[in-house]
Amino acid sequence: MIGRIFEIREFTLHDGPGVRTTVFFKGCPLRCAWCHNPEGQSAEIETMVRKGGEKVVCGRDISATELADELATNADIMNESGGGVTFSGGEPLAQAQFLLEVIPLLKARGIRLAIETSGYAPASEYRAVVSQLDFVYQDVKLLDAEAFKRWTGGDLSVVQENISWLRKSGVPYSFRVPLIPGVNDDATSRGAFAAFAAGSKIEYLPYNTAAGSKYPMLGRVYSLEGI
Ligand code: SF4
Repeated sequence: MIGRIFEIREFTLHDGPGVRTTVFFKGCPLRCAWCHNPEGQSAEIETMVRKGGEKVVCGRDISATELADELATNADIMNESGGGVTFSGGEPLAQAQFLLEVIPLLKARGIRLAIETSGYAPASEYRAVVSQLDFVYQDVKLLDAEAFKRWTGGDLSVVQENISWLRKSGVPYSFRVPLIPGVNDDATSRGAFAAFAAGSKIEYLPYNTAAGSKYPMLGRVYSLEGI
C-alpha cells in the first residue's frame, strides 16, 4: 500500500523518550486555528514558496516497505537509547490502513512505536492502530463541544469516545494540551484539563509563537496572527 508523508525528521527530542525518528503524515481531518504544520492538513501534494522564491514540494508517496526501511536507518541507536519511531502529522490515523502495514514491519526490527494524535478518527481504526503501539501522545485541545467545533472544525464526541477507550486500553499514554492564548489557557480551562486528566499524565505545550510562519508560504492567511 502507498502512503503519503511530508517529512521524516531524525534525532527528534520532544516526541518521546530516547533517540527518535518522527515521520509526519500528510492530511488531517481537523483545521485547528493554531496549527503550526499547515502543510500537514491537506492530503494533496502542495508547493510552499519560501521568502526569496524557493519552492519546496510538500508531500511524497511511499510504500510501506520503503517507509519502514527509511525509518529503520537508525534502528540500533534508537533501540539502544530506549527510543524509537513516532508517527505524527498531520493526523497519522487519517492513513490508518497504511499504518497497519508499516507497524509490523517496524516491530519486526524491534523498534518501539509512539503516535502523536488528535484522536480524530473512527473508533475502529483508532483501536486497531493504538493497541499495537508502545506509547500514545493524545491531544486534548478543548473540552467544550461548541468551542472544539469553532476552533478545530471537528466533533468532540469522536475524540471523547477514543479517549474513553484509551484510558482502559492498558496502552501507556500522556495527554497533551497545546496552550493557545485567548482560547484555552485561562485558569478555568487549566483546572478543567487537570480534572479531565484525573490522575493520568498530562503535559502542557506552550504556544508556538512561530505557528503562523508557514501560512503565507502556502498562500494562506493565519487567522490567529498577533496573539
Ligand atoms: S490536529 Fe494537528 S495537524 Fe490537524 S489541524 Fe490540528 S494541529 Fe494541525
